[in-house]
Amino acid sequence: MADNNILYDCIIIGAGPGGLQAAIHLARYNRRILLLDRGGGRTSHARHIVNYLGIREITGQELIETGLAQLRSFGVEVRKTPVVSVTKEEDFRVQTTEHAFQARFVIASTGAVDNQPRLKHLSRFFGKGYYTCVDCDGHQTTGRQLLVMGNNLNAPRLALAMQQMYTVRVSLLISDYSLPDDYATVLQENNIPLVIGRPVELLGNDVLAGVRLADGRSMTCEAIMATFGWHLNDGYLQDLQLDRDQEGFKILASPAGQSSLPGFYVVGALRPGHAQAIIAAGQGAAAAIDINSQLLDL
Ligand SMILES: Cc1cc2nc3c(=O)[nH]c(=O)nc-3n(C[C@H](O)[C@H](O)[C@H](O)COP(=O)(O)OP(=O)(O)OC[C@H]3O[C@@H](n4cnc5c(N)ncnc54)[C@H](O)[C@@H]3O)c2cc1C
Repeated sequence: MADNNILYDCIIIGAGPGGLQAAIHLARYNRRILLLDRGGGRTSHARHIVNYLGIREITGQELIETGLAQLRSFGVEVRKTPVVSVTKEEDFRVQTTEHAFQARFVIASTGAVDNQPRLKHLSRFFGKGYYTCVDCDGHQTTGRQLLVMGNNLNAPRLALAMQQMYTVRVSLLISDYSLPDDYATVLQENNIPLVIGRPVELLGNDVLAGVRLADGRSMTCEAIMATFGWHLNDGYLQDLQLDRDQEGFKILASPAGQSSLPGFYVVGALRPGHAQAIIAAGQGAAAAIDINSQLLDL
């Protein structure tokens, strides 16, 4: 039995753009909903979002706070707490560290986290010189001396792409990965210097100036685009059987966001597709509209 005896129409887990937009739509249908969020998340690290329709420039934090204020104006219940598990019998049971809640539908919108090398001063430059998302921040590197770094095949591809779009001054730093010979040749043909080494420290005070490697060498740069992969915030879903993509990574969903488990929806970075605030928000709206039509007894 849940702690408060309420059967919610829908519990939304995660207050990024996906979860917030879903909650806004469900609130406008007068549905009984609960939004659970532990705080933090990818969007909160965005220092300037400039590609969101209708907003000239906003920080991720402001976008979230504005969304939360909008939700509260509709009377939506919001609790700041981590969800630790979700199970399903007839209805869903959502367990936080302190309480259990039940709902007919659940939307998971808990996003993903970028994998990062252990880098001294990373927090100083994350989103401000050190970037991980081309769609978000690639434009910030225009004309700058750029270092692409990573530990997989995406890294050389990214270096070539960045050179085509933003700047001719690109170098590549690869760690813990051996690059196929043909890639090394293509990089050479495109004047992209290749360095093998492990980055340990970002250099600079207010402005990024370079990176120091474990062997003592340093490389100068004005911007970094890093690609070390990412992992999902999905540990709390361990009790649910959910179909995943071929790599067993992202959670598969219908166009409206319903997973292979009826009633359980996923939006945003948890499911295949591009990790963008406006895409997550659109998916949140679609999931909410679909859930509302399932709740209608027509
Ligand atoms: C530095 C940076 C800059 C970016 N810039 C842009 C940009 O300019 N434009 C753009 O479109 N996108 C940008 N993005 C990407 C964008 O923020 C996300 O890809 C997108 O918004 C994903 O939204 P989401 O709702 O899926 O997840 P998120 O925004 O990550 O939100 C997930 C929420 O779920 C919460 N959560 C996670 N686990 C739990 C749990 N167990 N229990 C409760 N809550 C939980 C988190 O705390 C978080 O609040 C940027 C990302 C970064 C890192």
